[in-house]
Amino acid sequence: MRNDPAARDEAVAELQEIYEKAVREVGEEEAEIFQISSMMLADDDFNAFVRNSVESENASAERAVENAAVAFSEMLNASGSDYIAGRSSDVRDVCGRVVELLSGSGRDLPSMAEPGILAADDLLPSETMRLDRSKILAIVTARGTVTSHTSILARSMNIPAVVGIGAALDDSCSGKKVLVDGFSGKVYIDPTEDVRRAAGGAAEAAVEEKADLEKLRGMENRTRGGRLVEVWANAGGLSDIESAVENDAGGIGLFRSEFLYLGTTSYPSEEELFEAYRSAAVLMRGKKVILRTLDIGADKNVGYFGLPEEENPALGHRAIRVCLARPELFRTQLRAILRASAFGNVSVMFPMIVSVTEFLRARGELERAMNELDEAGAPFNRDIETGVMIETPAAAILSDQLAREADFFSIGTNDLSQYTLAADRGNPAMQGYFDPPSEAVLRIIGMTVKNARDNGIRVGICGELGADLSLTERFLEMGVNEFSVNPNSVLPLRRAIRSSTLA
Ligand code: PEP
Ligand code: MG
Repeated sequence: MRNDPAARDEAVAELQEIYEKAVREVGEEEAEIFQISSMMLADDDFNAFVRNSVESENASAERAVENAAVAFSEMLNASGSDYIAGRSSDVRDVCGRVVELLSGSGRDLPSMAEPGILAADDLLPSETMRLDRSKILAIVTARGTVTSHTSILARSMNIPAVVGIGAALDDSCSGKKVLVDGFSGKVYIDPTEDVRRAAGGAAEAAVEEKADLEKLRGMENRTRGGRLVEVWANAGGLSDIESAVENDAGGIGLFRSEFLYLGTTSYPSEEELFEAYRSAAVLMRGKKVILRTLDIGADKNVGYFGLPEEENPALGHRAIRVCLARPELFRTQLRAILRASAFGNVSVMFPMIVSVTEFLRARGELERAMNELDEAGAPFNRDIETGVMIETPAAAILSDQLAREADFFSIGTNDLSQYTLAADRGNPAMQGYFDPPSEAVLRIIGMTVKNARDNGIRVGICGELGADLSLTERFLEMGVNEFSVNPNSVLPLRRAIRSSTLA
């Protein structure tokens, strides 16, 4: 483990460098935040808090800094000033930097002095989470697919990405001029003048298109035939919630809660989870926020969970299976979700369900978490809506029975496609199974929607197919009335819905 003051000094030096660069590039006012962050690390009270955690509570250095981050950001939140409260995320950010340096978890990521294109064999979601967005102009990977979690994250971070280009990517492109066309999925090394000009034109057209879409802000998602549809956004963290608000989403239809676990080096506490969920609920100001419980495992893995090595992790310990096998871990999250339900319109849903019994067991843990909160006298919404993610063929086949137990369904088309087609969603060689979308998958979605509607429960789509505008009409015909898509897809989907004539 690194020595605490040394890691702090390194973080201060990094911040100073970033500050100077930010002053040069974006001006003094915008850069101020980095200076405030380094002042905080030099603050006597902050350092006394960390030292005390280590000496009297026997906390590890990482844990002590994390504890200090929680305590100081809560103090800022309670200040009564919007400006000061707004600094609490900066405190967390800078503490996260120190924790990374302490644990060494950030060392294997390339550090880019200047903004550039990151080319890699592959990127894990946990690594993508740790990227400094300000330095990454685009991402190119040899492996990965458009529905892999790294791509999903890059999309929500607004970073152009071209993935799965295979052996074409090697060290020879290092240091060269590279042009990444995220629209066509092409990468040019040493592009010709013609290619550059064409790409510049496409980029300008994209800016115009965005301005056009902006006109749809504040408008209803209503078809010309008069049908009102919900368009929500998917989120992996609080920055996506901000982006959902910017894009005028009607709510959060899928909060991928595991990203809060991936971005850290040890289990987040109930308080930390509660804080994030409450912020999401508050930022959405009473609009729906559907928190999906922890979907750890498969490609979304992080060392401290100690998940077993498996031949086929996507068919192994993942999501609800991990949670039901570790009820304490599960109930910590459920208590945090329930407590956040007192601050907004929060629902909960369970991923990777394959049977009615499994759903009932998950709901049993939710009830146990409610009893624990009752005993502690903590407020929560006892009538919280509880949904099932339909993302395995088993759940789709049992959707008539599940619909009698659940309040709503959310169809995860990424996994539903992978498991229906027996094709790894993260393997570029299997892309042909996903694109164009398979008729088998569309029929299984249609069957699920019908079972939901016959039993009077709501059903939505939260996988990437929901943002495929070539399918919008077909989904609407099936009776889908709720979509949850990447924040940047909210307005394009609104436009597609508004041009439909379906009643
Ligand atoms: C899905 O599987 O479609 C889904 C929305 O969940 P995730 O992509 O996080 O697995
Ligand atoms: Mg899924």
